[in-house]
Amino acid sequence: MNEQLNFLIELQKLDSLILQTRLKIDAAPSTILSHERPLKKAQEVYENAKKELQTLEKKKRDKELKIAELKEKMNKLKQRSSEIKDNKAYQAHLKEIQKVEKDISDEEDEMLIIMESIEATETLLKSQNELVEKERIGFEAVKDELQREIVRIENELKKLKEDRKKITDKIEGDIYNQYMTLMKTTRGLAVVEAKNETCQGCNLHIPPQSFVEIKSNQEIINCPQCKRMLYYIKKNEPGNENQ
Ligand SMILES: [Zn+2]
Repeated sequence: MNEQLNFLIELQKLDSLILQTRLKIDAAPSTILSHERPLKKAQEVYENAKKELQTLEKKKRDKELKIAELKEKMNKLKQRSSEIKDNKAYQAHLKEIQKVEKDISDEEDEMLIIMESIEATETLLKSQNELVEKERIGFEAVKDELQREIVRIENELKKLKEDRKKITDKIEGDIYNQYMTLMKTTRGLAVVEAKNETCQGCNLHIPPQSFVEIKSNQEIINCPQCKRMLYYIKKNEPGNENQ
């Protein structure tokens, strides 16, 4: 096989691996973020419950004040009861007392509902806090694992780049330039196999005469359509591409 073609095949293999490896590294931040989602969700529910509890406690304090005011009013009304001599005025006074009694009773009913809501929200907060901790521990473990994986992949990439340097040092400048131009126009696949008289890059059927030349692997032949560099692997002899 043409030595340069042989190097190009090796270079393509390495570059395909490098591209895959880079994709993995690029995808890492969004992978980490997606694993963080359940924790964020749990935190959000927890924070909302906390705000809800603060609102309820404020309502409770307001209600306590309101009830205290009404009770104070009631005391004053009752103190005045003995001073009223006129029957009509007394009836009106009794009505007012009844009204305040009703107000106190209504406010106390509302207070009960608030107290129940506070209790329910405190229960939710407690269980949500446990969930947040559970999600945090789970996420930290996954994140650590992913970060170790990224370091491993980055080391792999470093090694691939070193291998790439060794190969490119052996490739002639103009051939390398052609390869790099093709890498851009073909989105990373510049050197492809010609199999069953077909370019494996663009599926073009290769004319028989050209295919005979490609089969010999003696020179670098470009696909007439996609311009990729073509090589041939002898049938039943896999691994012979490096002959
Ligand atoms: Zn082609």
